[in-house]
Amino acid sequence: MKKEFAVIGLGRFGSSVCKELFRLGHDVLAIDQDEEKVQDVLTIATHTAIANATDEKALQSLGIRNFEYVVVAIGDDIQSSILCTLLLKELGVKKVWAKAQSYYHQRVLEKIGADRVVRPERDMGMRMAHHLVSENIVDY
Ligand code: ATP
Repeated sequence: MKKEFAVIGLGRFGSSVCKELFRLGHDVLAIDQDEEKVQDVLTIATHTAIANATDEKALQSLGIRNFEYVVVAIGDDIQSSILCTLLLKELGVKKVWAKAQSYYHQRVLEKIGADRVVRPERDMGMRMAHHLVSENIVDY
């Protein structure tokens, strides 16, 4: 079934999430404050918007509360990541999935209501370790 997603922050991580959701046939609204980043995803998103995701009015005017899932893929700017996540939950978004870049960043995001927090480098490192071990078992 087709779902509606919004992805905020179109760095390497956010644009990859956006591209894959779109490829799987879902509707994706891609948002970034940087016009160039938005230009780069025109062909891999259903809708795009140039907006500051820490601006409550901007989020409201995008109708963000109507999206079942919103992905916060802002990493470096921890303050923006936290404020955006907080606003999304306050605006009533049901599922907010966010990316964190450290343990404490993750803890804050969880505390303010993020429904799922991922730490891509750590998570991928763990997955790779498991793959390495299972490959060795198969080789053996
Ligand atoms: P990558 O996924 O490439 O590792 P990153 O972790 O370095 O990204 P950032 O560079 O912090 O993440 O942010 C990713 C994107 O989020 C950037 O394109 C940036 O323009 C966008 N961004 C940051 N703050 C905001 C904001 N307040 N509103 C909208 N977009 C934002």
